[in-house]
Parts: sequence; C-alpha cells; structure tokens
Amino acid sequence: MPNPAILTVDDDPAVSRAVARDIRRRYGDRYRVVRADSAETALEALRELKLRGEQVAVLIADYRMPQMNGIEFLEAAMDLFPAARRVLLTAYADTDAAINAINVVDLDHYLLKPWHPPEEKLYPVLDSLLEAWRATAAAPTTELRVVGHRWSAPSFKARDFLARNLVPFRWVLADEPEGAELLVAAGVTANDVPLIVTTDGKSLVQPAEADLAAHVGLTTAPAADFYDLVVVGAGPAGLGAAVYGASEGLRTVLIERRATGGQAGQSSRIENYLGFPDGVSGAQLTDRARRQALRFGAELLSAREVVALEDAGAARVLRFADGSSIATHTVVLATGVSYRMLPAPGLAELTGRGCFYGSVASEAPSCSGQDVYIVGGANSAGQAAVHFSRYARRVHLLIRGADLARSMSSYLIEQIAQIDNIEVHPHTEVVGGAGQEHLEEVTLRDIRSGEVRRVDTSWLFVFIGAEPRTDWLDGAVARDPRGFVLTGPDLTRGGRRPSGWSLPRDPYHLESSMPGVFAAGDVRAESVKRVASAVGEGAMAVSLVHRYLEAQ
Ligand SMILES: Cc1cc2nc3c(=O)[nH]c(=O)nc-3n(C[C@H](O)[C@H](O)[C@H](O)COP(=O)(O)OP(=O)(O)OC[C@H]3O[C@@H](n4cnc5c(N)ncnc54)[C@H](O)[C@@H]3O)c2cc1C
Repeated sequence: MPNPAILTVDDDPAVSRAVARDIRRRYGDRYRVVRADSAETALEALRELKLRGEQVAVLIADYRMPQMNGIEFLEAAMDLFPAARRVLLTAYADTDAAINAINVVDLDHYLLKPWHPPEEKLYPVLDSLLEAWRATAAAPTTELRVVGHRWSAPSFKARDFLARNLVPFRWVLADEPEGAELLVAAGVTANDVPLIVTTDGKSLVQPAEADLAAHVGLTTAPAADFYDLVVVGAGPAGLGAAVYGASEGLRTVLIERRATGGQAGQSSRIENYLGFPDGVSGAQLTDRARRQALRFGAELLSAREVVALEDAGAARVLRFADGSSIATHTVVLATGVSYRMLPAPGLAELTGRGCFYGSVASEAPSCSGQDVYIVGGANSAGQAAVHFSRYARRVHLLIRGADLARSMSSYLIEQIAQIDNIEVHPHTEVVGGAGQEHLEEVTLRDIRSGEVRRVDTSWLFVFIGAEPRTDWLDGAVARDPRGFVLTGPDLTRGGRRPSGWSLPRDPYHLESSMPGVFAAGDVRAESVKRVASAVGEGAMAVSLVHRYLEAQ
C-alpha cells in the first residue's frame, strides 16, 4: 500500500514547486507529495486516490486560484476525504477570507506566504496536523468494493455474482459515508448503483456480468479456437468432467454462465458427499474443484452463456450470446437445472428485493433477528432453513404436503426437529407478495381449508423444483418432454437409433443424439439429482469422450 498523500494545489507553478519541495524534504520518506496546478486537476487526483483506496492526510490549497478558489476546492475535497486536514495558503491581504473559511470548510490552519523558514512556519503546523490525522485515519484498503442499496435488485445481482464466484469484496451501502465518498469519486449518484470499485481503482457503473468478471480477474475469453473437449456448465458434473478431461491430457475448456459450483455452490452444507464426514459447504467444494481443474490445465470461462450447438462435420461448434463461437471435437453438456419461479402475483417484480430463488448464503446475516419464509420441502429448502435459523428470529418452512417425510432426507428432518426457531407449516402455499421498495408481506393459503392470511416479512426464499432450461438445444439434440437431454439407451428404445444418427453403432451410455456430444448430471434425463452422481457422470463422460475420439 503506497504512503498516504499530502496534496498541494497552487496555480502559480513556482509557488507550487516550492511548497512541494519543502514538504518532500521533511516528509517524503513517509508521505507521498501530490502536486497540482489547478483545483480541477487536484480534484481529479483526489478522485483517483479515493477509488484506489489510498489515503490523503493533508490538503494544502492556495486561496487565489482561477475558476475555483482554495475554499471552494477544500469544500469539494471534503466530500472525498473528510478526515484529511485542511490548510489554506494565503497572501496577507486575504487573511479575512482565510478566517471566514475556518467556519465554511472547518479549516485547520491558514499559512501566510511566504512560509520561510519552513522549520519555523511550515513544519510545526504540518507535524501537529499529521499527528491529528493519524489518530483518525481510516485504514487504507485494496479490497474490491461494491457500493449499492440493500434493496436494489441490480446491487444484489452483482454481490451474488461475486460471492458465488468466490471473489472477495466489501459491501458498502450507498448511504454510508464511505459509499457516498466513493460515488462522488466516481462522478455518479446513488441512482446509478451498483458501483464496483476494483482493487486497482477502476470504477464500473452497473456493469454487465461479463464486464465485471473480466475486471475481477475471471477469464472470459477462450485462449484457443479449437479444443478436444468443451464442457458447458461448471456445476459438479462440469467440474468433474473438466478435472478428468484436463488431467487425462485433453485440451479442455469449461464454460459457465453465472457461477462455478452450480446448484451445489449454493448449498450451505452438503452432508452426504463421500469423503467429508463432517459435511462440506458448497463454496468449499466448489473452490477445491475449481482449483483442481485449473491445476490440471483446464481453462475456465466465466460469465459466458452458450446459446447454440451446431454439428459441423467432424467438429462441434458452440455459440455464445455475443455471437462469437468456439469449436471442439467433443462436448459435455452439464447445464444442470434452475429453480422454477413462483407464479404468485406480485413476486416477480420483487425478485432480488426480498424474494430470492435458491439459497443466498450471502443474505443470511442481513436477516438477523427477523422472520424468514422458505418455500419448498426438498433437501435444498431444508438446508436453507437450518442455515438461516442461525441468524433469523424465526424460520417458517412452507410446504404443500402434510409433512417433510416424502421429500426430505431423514438426517435433515431430524436436524430441523431439533431447532427451536424453525417452524414447519404443512398444507401451505404462497399465493401473493407485495411491497414498495422491497418485499413487505406475503400472502399464504391453507390448501385444505382455503383460508388466506397475510404475514409481514422482508425475506422469502423459494426452492420449488427445477427445470433444465435447455431450449437452446432445440433441434440439436433429442430431449424428453420436460427438456432433459436423452442419452444412450434412452435414445434407442424400441431398437431404433435416433433420427439423423449416422454412425454404425448405438450411442454410448451418456451420449446424446449428436455423436460426440455427451450429457452429465442433472440435465440428463433419468439422472439422479445428487452431487456425487453428477461428479461421477462428469468423470464417466470423459472416458466415453476418449472412446469417441479413438474411433474417429
Ligand atoms: C441448495 C441446494 C442444496 C443441495 N444439497 C445437496 C446435498 O446435500 N447433496 C446432494 O447430493 N445434492 C444436493 N443438491 C443437488 C445437487 O447440488 C445437484 O444435483 C448438482 O449440483 C447437479 O450438478 P450439475 O453439475 O448437474 O448441475 P448444476 O449444479 O445445476 O450446474 C449447472 C451449471 O451450468 C450452468 N449453465 C446452465 N446453462 C448454461 C449455459 N447455457 N451456458 C453456460 N453455463 C450454463 C449453470 O449456471 C450452473 O452453474 C442440492 C441442490 C441445491 C440447490
């Protein structure tokens, strides 16, 4: 972290140089002297320092400057560095203005020109100002910062994207002093959030995810035009395929549209994955798998969505949403499933502003002391209930059935029964939601009696089944009526090979109706919806990829 700055601004180049020289002589080993010759360039320098997370200890401004005088400059500088000590440099004739400035900008000192000898007139003043500043100095920061509103859906999306991609960042509310200072430094207002301030001081205003990804060190562009294996989707199945593919010498690229880890990455605790007797959080498992894939040489592209698959003779071509493409010998489709949206009126508009799909672990501390509603009776909802119970006053688990026994693992049912602040509401469905800035109330209906009631809450987490969202594969590979990709024996029921199939063999076990394109994990029809089976299918798909390549 660079030394804190002492900034001087004077429009007279000779005076400007002289002040900077005298200050540098005594403080140059501990402080960086930043010199400007107009208020505007000085403010520009301060904005940059603010965005880079650096500190400013003292501001020394000449009073008589064109366009903006020293007092006006110090006033503007206070919006960026309120803790910096302020000194006005004046001629004897301007002493009155300097005295007035004591009130206007809370001036710490005015220095009469000339200030020689500095040992008598300048250094004692600066020594005491620096001592005062050191006592109040905010810690310097090199963190990524996200400035936003608690209830802004785009702010939530940016935070969630970073959290799920395991990018460390600090969340700063736009109406906190630091948030307001960063907005001023970036030249935007609270209406423009989220503002992302990167570790090297760049500011991004409401960036698209691909742009954000590129600025936080995630790779978004492929290094080559052609690969042996392209894996689409970086959940457990895709990560498994990438680890095995790369470790077995295939030129492998893994493409993820949102966050590595897929659904598993959202899990607060996976208790039933082999080798982790005490359970493992989805984030931990994801982080390990991602590092493992990268160590073996797989490329990982983030924030890139594949929107089309084409058969180009011996090659398979995958197109991205921006029109670019990537070609490969083989493909593993590992795109999993996504949560279904709750159709209740009023909720769509509140998505990301109190109504969330899937477990949003990063939101849990914000629910502290409040009532949280969770919809769904499967393991994912159960895990979320256990996780949120550590923060919330009360967790209400809403299920349509009579109890959890049919849909949830018994270890979770037992855990939930032992947690006092989780209440299970059977035969209950959500039929509406409302709120102005954010979710404020949810309408519940008792399925048996039809009775409807409203409850006040700002937090609704929905886990109501999932769908594969594979429309982009329409016409490319055969799918079942629900959109799951058909593979192997499911394609040859009745002894007939799929239409368009040109090879003199049946499709391999995980192979789709397009030769060389395999499916693994939740997206595959008839798959077991589990982390272990997804990882296993990813590994198995790679062995079939080898078999396919050998026969080419
Ligand atoms: C909260 C929660 C808790 C769970 N807990 C457990 C548990 O304890 N034990 C257990 O065994 N299972 C658990 N599961 C289920 C398990 O996580 C899934 O079965 C598993 O993640 C499936 O892996 P997958 O790789 O097939 O798909 P997913 O995990 O769904 O990953 C698919 C990935 O593909 C990406 N993708 C989709 N389309 C595209 C595209 N067109 N272009 C690029 N990328 C794309 C998605 O963004 C996603 O990251 C849980 C699920 C959830 C949601």
